[in-house]
Amino acid sequence: MIDVHGVSKAYGTIRALSDVSFTIEEGEIVGLLGPNGAGKTTLIKILTGYLQPDEGQVTIAGFDVLTQTQDVQAHIGYLPENAPLYPELSVQAYLKLMADLRRVPPAEQNERIARAVYATGLTDRLTQPIGQLSKGYRQRVGLAQAILHRPKLLILDEPTVGLDPTQIVEIRRLIRRLAQHATILFSTHILSEVEALCDRVLILMNGQVRADARISELATTHNAILVLNQEV
Ligand code: ATP
Repeated sequence: MIDVHGVSKAYGTIRALSDVSFTIEEGEIVGLLGPNGAGKTTLIKILTGYLQPDEGQVTIAGFDVLTQTQDVQAHIGYLPENAPLYPELSVQAYLKLMADLRRVPPAEQNERIARAVYATGLTDRLTQPIGQLSKGYRQRVGLAQAILHRPKLLILDEPTVGLDPTQIVEIRRLIRRLAQHATILFSTHILSEVEALCDRVLILMNGQVRADARISELATTHNAILVLNQEV
């Protein structure tokens, strides 16, 4: 589903990513773990086509991110960090706007919106202005817009950051449910989040992949966990 080969990116003299390579298979749920500044958002922006790498190739579902942008966008549902929602719009009006932007055919929009709203537990919030929702519910709206076009891949940038413990549990439950229908890559700086949700983890530090492992493999290497807990 995702194939990243030799990706590097610098902002001026700051090297954000250095020779990053990995693959993610269809159906996986993978955590991209790293501390602040590790390069997670830069990598996600490159995967979603919002940023061009200086070097390297990325394909999503077999489509090249740089040259087959529309095909790539059709396959990806993206939740940016601090998703730019319109606070004055109702949930319904916002999702209608996003359905238009995603070119969901008008005849299918009502059903797609209803499914996304149901899947994210927003049914009783439809008429509420987004600005009046809690941060947890705003994240649900962000997830609802990400699945409107029924993407095969969800890329979520720190989906639980800034949420309270109850909201974190709810969003994790939601991510687990969404994983039944899509491959998921999400970023986080919390090791326990990856353990709670994923089979596999990619650890990014200083712009480099420091580990690419199944959680069970990491757990057997007790020292590795200790090191990660200290570093991440
Ligand atoms: P966070 O968890 O804080 O969002 P991150 O792992 O997502 O961190 P990035 O935001 O990708 O990391 O940043 C990687 C490096 O690139 C950092 O050193 C950051 O300061 C730098 N950086 C990111 N965006 C820019 C930019 N637009 N201009 C200059 N430097 C940037």
